[in-house]
Amino acid sequence: MPSPKTTKNAYPQPQRLQFPDAEAEHEWLGYAFDAYYQADVGVAESIKVEEDKGRKLACAKGCSSCCKSHTTIPIFPLELLGLYWYVTEIMASDVRSKVKLQLTDHTSGDPCPFLLDGACSVHPMRPLACRHFNVFGRVCKEGEDAFYSRREDVLTPIKSHQDAAYEAMLPFHGFTTPEQKQQAMKSSYVQKQARVLQEIDWAHLAARINT
Ligand code: SF4
Ligand code: SF4
Repeated sequence: MPSPKTTKNAYPQPQRLQFPDAEAEHEWLGYAFDAYYQADVGVAESIKVEEDKGRKLACAKGCSSCCKSHTTIPIFPLELLGLYWYVTEIMASDVRSKVKLQLTDHTSGDPCPFLLDGACSVHPMRPLACRHFNVFGRVCKEGEDAFYSRREDVLTPIKSHQDAAYEAMLPFHGFTTPEQKQQAMKSSYVQKQARVLQEIDWAHLAARINT
């Protein structure tokens, strides 16, 4: 999925999202920011390893065929809430109007409704799955899902960072003590909450978005 990449080998240093006022108001937002930061750091590290071997990241801004060809993108409850927050509170109103239309028209199985004019309209809050999906070598063809067509070119996320991202989400689900978290991680609690982005009833969400 398109991410803050350059076409040269200078993947930007990940930054934790900064919306201090919103985070003070919504504690759960900090959990999402922590999770995304962990994921982004892991992705940056993996990319660096590959680039050091001479591989070149194909993903770049404006490249988005993966957002259309992928039909079963997992999304977690905290991420859904984060997207709703981003669309209603942060997104520019002209963009929000367009996204609202796409959400309203979305039916199960359609491509991701947040893809707008060839770019991700929720880029800072895009789900973990989108953050993790990166391809080396050449840009995907229209309709190609590189995970199946050339798995060797798809970045493998670092498990410890992936786990750290899931762990960061646990307080949202009420797991706060080290023991509770350990237990929840052992049972893959967060992963079991995954839904499919394309199958969400986005029209329901759209109805609650003021433009
Ligand atoms: S190269 Fe493939 S995975 Fe990367 S942004 Fe383009 S279409 Fe998506
Ligand atoms: S949220 Fe949608 S538009 Fe954004 S990167 Fe993911 S699939 Fe693409």
